[in-house]
Amino acid sequence: MAIQTGILVNGSHIYEIDRTLGNIIIALIIVLVIVILALAIAVKRRAIAQYKTKSAEERLKESYSELENAYKKVSKTQKELSTKYEELKRSEENNRKIAYTDYLTEIPNRTAFSEKLDDVMNTLRKEEVVAVMYIDLDNFKNINDVLGHSYGDELLIDVSHRLKQAIDENDYLARFGGDEFIVLSQNIEDVGLYEEKIRKIQKVFSYPFVLSLKEFFVTISIGVAYAPRDGKTTQSLIKNVDLAMYTAKEKGKNTYCFYEESINQRLMNKIELQSELRQAIDFNEFEVFYQAQIDLDTNRIAGFEALVRWNHPTKGIILPGDFIPIAEQTGLIVPIGKWVMFEACKQLKKWEEEGFDDITMAVNLSGRQFFDTDLVAMVREALDTTEINPAHLELEITETVVLDNIEYSIDVIEQIKAFGVHFSLDDFGTGYSAMNYLRMLPVSNLKIDKSFLDRLIENQCDQKIVASIINLARNLEMDVIAEGVEYEAQADFLRSVDCKLAQGFLYSKPIPKKAANDLLDQYNKM
Ligand code: C2E
Ligand code: MG
Ligand code: MG
Repeated sequence: MAIQTGILVNGSHIYEIDRTLGNIIIALIIVLVIVILALAIAVKRRAIAQYKTKSAEERLKESYSELENAYKKVSKTQKELSTKYEELKRSEENNRKIAYTDYLTEIPNRTAFSEKLDDVMNTLRKEEVVAVMYIDLDNFKNINDVLGHSYGDELLIDVSHRLKQAIDENDYLARFGGDEFIVLSQNIEDVGLYEEKIRKIQKVFSYPFVLSLKEFFVTISIGVAYAPRDGKTTQSLIKNVDLAMYTAKEKGKNTYCFYEESINQRLMNKIELQSELRQAIDFNEFEVFYQAQIDLDTNRIAGFEALVRWNHPTKGIILPGDFIPIAEQTGLIVPIGKWVMFEACKQLKKWEEEGFDDITMAVNLSGRQFFDTDLVAMVREALDTTEINPAHLELEITETVVLDNIEYSIDVIEQIKAFGVHFSLDDFGTGYSAMNYLRMLPVSNLKIDKSFLDRLIENQCDQKIVASIINLARNLEMDVIAEGVEYEAQADFLRSVDCKLAQGFLYSKPIPKKAANDLLDQYNKM
């Protein structure tokens, strides 16, 4: 702006003045910068001088306090860390305790036992023997069903206390499952002594448990296996001790059983039989045999009982006692039983058509069949298909089966009776023989079990029982049939007490249909 003005008013003069002013300003700036620099240097020098004047001791003090602060911080963090670590350890221990302890009885659980046994098996010394005892309460389900689960739990706790009482200090007790306990004993030197331990355990169950102010007796089934003889690994030892316990159950419970090789063999046979049984219907391997039932007054055949046989392709004829329990367990009894029912009804129809129109046909029903929801429909179908006289069909059931659920049983019996079919109570005298139930059951026949006939001649007591059963049946308007009659003397006695019907080897064994036909000709064509 100054240059422009200079040019406008008087060019060279004004320009001159401007230049001098510029130089003065620049010189001033330079002086100012120099002064500032000098001041800065002076301040810095002073600071350095001050610092240098501080004593080495002071500096040491400062560093020390800094160090102290730092140390405090570190030790605080360290403390915090170790508290955290303790907490973690405690919760880990807690978790471990939870994972290895049975919540109910507070003794070691299955996991703990398996790990313990693993350790023992892995460090087993040569010649060292350990024993595992598998204890299962008999009929525990009943306690749970009758009293409810909380009393069931209470019982399990009591059981664990009693077991603790009975075992030795070094034994390892665990709860293995619901009502199953397991005891590991190491360094077994005397098997006889070990058996004493088993008996001691049984003994603590000889006095009752008090639940809900009532006394209950509880029995146990025990399996025992020794390692290494009965299993070299935890898994195989536990499998075998379980089998031994299962065998004790099969023997009627409240007993103990040692594992043996044969147990395994038996199980293998059973498994084999089970799979063969599945195909036996399709392969047409079943056959119905018929056993005559004799009218003791007329000496004629009053009826037959249909008894199934299995014609096994390699093992020959297998009797029902050897496969019906397996069929029952697997449910295969339902289709097998249906086949028997149709076969027996067809045969009865044939005999009716041949003129033997006053004979009956008895067909056995097992528990599984009886409680099968299709039973009523199945019987109806058999009657419709074969067109037999329903009054000639008799269904045999046992007390033990019907008493499992008496109301349901009566209902089923009534429904089938409505078709005109009759019912017999098989093996009478071997079950509960509860008279009040007998009164309620709508059955027409009592079959006195063979066991009463066996000692009938020499045992007066059995004679009285048989006479009483016959009397009782008469009073309840039922017929009586004696099973297992083998001697004429038995038949004579039965006649003397007014028993109307008999079945047994004296007259005929169960025989194939063709032979039964001949027997009918022989007895009833006269
Ligand atoms: P159960 O119904 O009590 O049949 C009578 C059993 O006693 C038959 O055995 C028969 O052969 C046998 N027995 C009859 N009289 C005599 C005798 O004088 N002396 C001797 N020692 N025994 C005699 P089996 O045929 O072995 O049948 C056994 C059981 O198997 C039957 O007992 C029955 O409970 C069951 N069973 C047979 N067939 C069937 C079936 O088709 N279905 C069902 N669910 N069970 C059946
Ligand atoms: Mg029978
Ligand atoms: Mg019987």
